[in-house]
Order: sequence, then structure tokens, then C-alpha cells
Amino acid sequence: MKNSIWMLGACGMGVGPLAIYLKESGNEVYGWDDSTGSPTENHLANADIPLLKDPWAAGRKPNLIGRSSAVKPGHVALTLAEKHQTRVLRRGELLAESVADKKFVAVCGSHGKTTTCGLIISALATAGIDFGYILGGLFRDPNFAPAHASQKSPWVVAEVDESDGTISHFSPDITVAVNLDWDHPDYYKDEAALEGVFRALFERTTTAVVIPTNNERLERLTRGLKARVIRVGETGDYTAQLIGANSSHSRLVLGGEFKNTEVSVPVTGAFNRANTSMALAVTHLISADIASEPLKRWRGIRRRQDILFEREDLLVLADYAHHPTEIAALLKWIKETHEGQLIVIFQPHRHTRTRQYASEFRQALHIADAAFVLPVYSAGEAAVEGGRSDAVVAGSALRLIEDRNELSKIISPLTKGKKTVVAFVGAGDIEHDAENYALILRREGLPVMTQDFGQAVAGKLSANAVIRASEPLNRRTTLGVGGIARWYAEPATVNDNIVLIQAAGELGLPYFVIGRGSNLLVLDEGYDGLIIHLNAEYWGEVKNLGDGRIQMGAGARLKEICGIAARDGLTGFEFLEGIPGTIGGSLRMNAGAMGSWIFDRVESIDWLTPRGIHRSANRNCFDAMYRDCPQLHGAVILSAVLKSTGKESSEKIRQTMDEMSQKRRSSQPRDPSAGCVFKNPDENHAGRLIESVGLKGTHIGAAEISNIHGNFIINKGDATAKDVLALMKQVRAKVQHDKHQLLQPEIIVLGKEWKDLL
Ligand SMILES: Cc1cc2nc3c(=O)[nH]c(=O)nc-3n(C[C@H](O)[C@H](O)[C@H](O)COP(=O)(O)OP(=O)(O)OC[C@H]3O[C@@H](n4cnc5c(N)ncnc54)[C@H](O)[C@@H]3O)c2cc1C
Repeated sequence: MKNSIWMLGACGMGVGPLAIYLKESGNEVYGWDDSTGSPTENHLANADIPLLKDPWAAGRKPNLIGRSSAVKPGHVALTLAEKHQTRVLRRGELLAESVADKKFVAVCGSHGKTTTCGLIISALATAGIDFGYILGGLFRDPNFAPAHASQKSPWVVAEVDESDGTISHFSPDITVAVNLDWDHPDYYKDEAALEGVFRALFERTTTAVVIPTNNERLERLTRGLKARVIRVGETGDYTAQLIGANSSHSRLVLGGEFKNTEVSVPVTGAFNRANTSMALAVTHLISADIASEPLKRWRGIRRRQDILFEREDLLVLADYAHHPTEIAALLKWIKETHEGQLIVIFQPHRHTRTRQYASEFRQALHIADAAFVLPVYSAGEAAVEGGRSDAVVAGSALRLIEDRNELSKIISPLTKGKKTVVAFVGAGDIEHDAENYALILRREGLPVMTQDFGQAVAGKLSANAVIRASEPLNRRTTLGVGGIARWYAEPATVNDNIVLIQAAGELGLPYFVIGRGSNLLVLDEGYDGLIIHLNAEYWGEVKNLGDGRIQMGAGARLKEICGIAARDGLTGFEFLEGIPGTIGGSLRMNAGAMGSWIFDRVESIDWLTPRGIHRSANRNCFDAMYRDCPQLHGAVILSAVLKSTGKESSEKIRQTMDEMSQKRRSSQPRDPSAGCVFKNPDENHAGRLIESVGLKGTHIGAAEISNIHGNFIINKGDATAKDVLALMKQVRAKVQHDKHQLLQPEIIVLGKEWKDLL
């Protein structure tokens, strides 16, 4: 039976690929992640897997939930699952269930299992074999999906993770044990317990256990198995000997059970070659042959020796290594294959591991010419005695960096005039530090003229696009307060939008899309970024598609839809009458009135992701929440198709709209405002609460709480954002004091977060 599955932590490397595999296997799949913006999201979108914060609210009924171990009990999604009595499995458990009836190749071990798994996948794909796979990472080649389900082949290759005990759910056909070192002291009480689960996995393996030659621990753990034990290395059952290498490739002579042949593989360094030999042996076991270029498709795995910046005198790379053995192997490889000094920035991963290995980390980093240690990435663990970064640096020349913003200031002077490799090492969020540092270097390298955003996009925009510096924003909002934007653009084509957001991303310039500015507070200091406005001239088309469907450009005003709906006798849009925004703004805000929301009418939306990727999706791919749609945060909405609820005479529709308009006129102020300032708390009205504490008419400067509606702050002339903020604080404090309700803002503040202002 096919399932309806909600995958939690879907943007991560573990859950995302499994979600894709499950989708391709014919299940209905959707995901959620608290942290979005990762490259996994593109693969999810390609597989048509929407991200939904509350699938029940979006009309889905999951009967199964897969969760990353990082989603801890008490998480709001798990509370929802409990409320709906839905079965929850950890990633490993779900993976084990999904491959239970397959010929399963399990890749396990302490270091390099993602790389080895990727190498096996790549070699099988190059050999033209039909098989399924689930990688626990992303290929560096963005066109190589991290998972695939075969409809015909029984073979599935995936790595299995020992960190949370779910390894005990697998019974593979072939197990590939890359190596085994003591790790995960948070889960296993001692080494014997860790060895025990590996021994049990080997015992459950039916056909073959593949291990490296001369690994004493794995030899011991594979003694007396029913399955055949196959050894791979310079000697053993499958042999691979190095006969030559350059900076990117190694030439190997294969022997033993391989057909005696010479191959060229795009890897360097002893540990990469060892992983490659294992992968080729497994490929041979399955396909009985090896091509002369068996890794033609191999471009590596993301976050494994990733080169982020390269100049003659400077190389910046990032790697996921987080165990002392991995770090030692990585740094040895860098020293062997690159000239110059080595500077390492290391972020320990998990407090328990840091406590366990503080001195081993110190030793592994010793090979660097200079090494810096960042605070521990906790991965949700509470701090433990002896598990902080100071335990790693203790009594050594290593330096602790508490403030990560200081990184480039500290490193750059050390690289001047010396050939250098800077390596960012760790499994936490250190990749962002690495990317930031590389971005700073790229910007330094740009000619002075192109450091300027206007110059960066010059010549790339269409002839009708508008770009200006220093744009006053007060006149672009209905409240009429606020300062100047550093850059302002009106794109005329989809490509203009892509050029703008990608150039802004490259230069580290934040951007923000503004519609009518009718739910927006611009601060007096303005916005040090790029404002994008979808001008109605190019983005305002409203088309009746027939069948009650209306297509609208994101820059069209809601009143235009009301006009067309009334003219063509289409019902269901009456509630939009009088909301002064655009289609784009109203979708992002899920605008509503009189008990209806715009998402009640959405059929599909067309938008660009913050990375500039063009997407279209149906209504059920979005969470429609109270004045919010999380999937559209940071997006550039281009257009939408809305569907009416039925037909009615134009007169009747106009009459309903007039009545609604009349109601608004009598209950809302006409002065400049940003609409309702605060969200209505559950079963209450912010306006009534504000009125009941006697704040109507209160003013600070020219900002005043409307006498007509307590939830509107109006601009009586020359109000400033400072006045508006002060009033908002006063309202929140008084309502909380008198009514024990903490009001949350409905309006958006440009370029800041409310938690930092109120
Ligand atoms: C007098 C008055 C009455 C109002 N009545 C109501 C009401 O009854 N119901 C209601 O829900 N709201 C009401 N509002 C608030 C407001 O009109 C709506 O929220 C409206 O939908 C906002 O649209 P906008 O184009 O002005 O968006 P903006 O205020 O410009 O922007 C709001 C948010 O949308 C984003 N955004 C805008 N365009 C795009 C785009 N193309 N792509 C991606 N993101 C975009 C912005 O980045 C921002 O985050 C009222 C406001 C006023 C002044």
C-alpha cells in the first residue's frame, strides 16, 4: 500500500534524499524543515515535494511521518503528529522499512561512507546498471539527484547510519564496511557496544561483507560469518595498486577478482583511493565488470574537499570531517597534494564528541601551520563538562575564536605574501563561515567599478527595466514613513528578476520585494539593500481564462480582480474589495477579510526562489496561515491563477462589493496607515483589546492610534517610523499588563525582525 508521508528535516542531507526515493517509489510525499535555503530544496522541488508546515491544514492526511534525529521530541511538528495520532519513524527506521524487500547494499563505517556510497552509485550509473539509491549527502554535480527509485531492479544502494542505533533494523544482501573507529559516545556506552551493533549487522548480511584488507578490528568482527567476507586493498580478493597520479587523477592497476586491467579515476589521496577500490569491488560484484573509466560521472560530494575559492596564491576549501581520524586524513591529504602553508578553522561537532576527543583533535590539528577553533556546534545537545572548544585548545598553540564575524580579519593578514590553503573543517554550520570568507575574497577580487551593484547588473537587464540608487521609500508605502533604499529596481522580464537577485546574492546585498507597501513599516534609517518592485506596467495583467479562472501578474492590484470579477459575473472575490495591496503582497500575507482568505481561491502560483530558480506549484504545495505563507518568504512572486466559486449577475456581485466597501468606510480610518498593525489573538480582536485599555487616540509625534479602529496606527502628517515603533511598544505593554495578551505584529518591518525592535 502506498503511503502519504510527511518528512521532517526534509532540507537536510539525510531526510531529503530519502523523501525523494519514497516519492519516486509511488508514495505521496511532502516535507518540512525549520531551516530552509539549502541546496537540497532544489532537489525536493524537482521531485515535486512541497514543504508544508501543517499538512493537515493543507488538506493532506499523512499516515506516516519520517523524522530526522535532529527533530527532537517536543518539536511542534511532532506535537501535531501526536494530535493526529500519526505513526512516526526515525529516518533509519523508515529507510529500513522501505528497502526490506530489496536486494540491499548497505554502506557503513565511521568515515567516508557517503563518499564511498556516492562512488558506488557513480560507478554503477557509469556502467549503465539499473538500480535504486539513497545518498546521505548531495553530489557536487547539481544534475545528479541524491536519490532514485528503480521500478524494475531489485538493487538499492544506501548508507546506513550507526549514530542513533537505527542500524540494527537492516538485513542487507551486501554490507560494505569502510572502516570502524570509536565514535558516538552520546549513544553507545563503550566501544564494545558499538562493535556489537556492527557484528550483528554483519551476521544479518546474507551474501557478502566487503571490508578493507589489513583492518584488524573489522577482521575480528567478521570472523566466522555465514556471508562471504571479501577483502579489498593493495592485496586481498579485489586488488587496486597505484601506478601513477597527477593533481586530479590516479591510475590504478586492478587485479584479483577484478579482470586484470588499468583504470583512471578522478580521485587523489590515499583515503579517496581506498574508498574508490571498495566502490569498484562492489560494482564488480553487482555488474561483473568494470569500465576503463569507471567514474566518468564522478565530480565528488558536496562538503567533501569542496573548493570554494581558488587563486594562484590562495585556496579555500571546506570539508565535513568531524572525527579526529577524518581530520588527520584530510589534513595529510592537503599537505601531500598542495604547496604552501595550511591554515585550519575547525568547528567541533557535538559536546559529547568534543569531550571524548579533545586531545585527539588537538593532535590532528597539529599538522597545520596555524589552527583556530570555533565554539562547538551542539546539534541540539546540551553542553557537558569538558565538552567545549576550550578543552580542544587547552595548553596548545591553537586559538579559540568566539566571534565568528572576526574570522576574515584574523585570517587575511596571515595569508598575505604566502602561498596558503585555508581549510574550514567540521560538520556543523561552519560551511556558512567558509562561504562568507570565500564571498569576501571574491568581492575583493572584483574590479572597483563592479563592486557597485548598479555596475554589476549594467548591460544584463532588459531595455525596459529601471534601476536607481537612493530611492525614498516613504512614498512607496501607504503609511508614508521611512528612509531611503540603497538600490531600487523595477524589472520588466523574468530574466531581469533573476539577474537582480543573483547579482545581489553574489555581492551580499539583501533584497526585498515591495508591492503596494500597504502592510509595511520602513524604518527611518531606510534599507541598505535592493528593493524590487513589480510595476503594474509589466506585471499587472489580469486575464479571464474561462472556467471561472483568472490569471494575474503579481503587480496587479486586488481592486483589478474585483473589477474583472464583477464585470464577468465571477463570485468568490468580493471579500478582496477595499484591500489596497497587490496580488504578490496579498499571497505572501495570505490577505483576507470577512472570513475568507486569498488562498481559498488560489489554483497555482508562479514564483522565483531566493536563488533565482523559476517554480510553479498548485495550491496544495503551500501552507496558508494567518497572514503568512512560509513557502513564499524571500520569494519573488510573478503571477497566480485564482478560481472563482461560481457565477452570478454583475449587479449582484457589485452590490455585495459595495456593501463590503461601505462596512470598511464606517469601521476603518481614511488617513494613511499600514492596515491592521497587530494580529488578532485566538478568539479575540486586537482592535477591541486596544480600545478596551483606553489607548484609542493616543499619539506619539504625528503617529496616532486611530479613534475609528484601535488596531490602525495612522500618520497625521510627518510621523516617523520611530514614532510608530514607540506607539507599538506602548500598545503591547499596556495590553499585556491589563489583558495578559502579548500582541504580535501583523505588519512587516523592512530589513529587520520584530524580535529585535519590540
Ligand atoms: C487601509 C488598509 C486596509 C487593509 N485591509 C486589509 C484587510 O482587510 N485584510 C488584509 O489581509 N490586509 C489588509 N491590509 C493590509 C495589506 O493591504 C495586505 O496585507 C496586502 O495584501 C499587502 O499587499 P502589498 O502589495 O501592499 O504588500 P506589501 O505591503 O508591499 O508587502 C507585504 C509583504 O509581501 C511581500 N511581497 C509583496 N509583493 C511581493 C511579490 N511580488 N513577491 C514576493 N513577495 C512580495 C513583501 O516582501 C512583504 O513581505 C490593509 C491595509 C490598509 C492600508
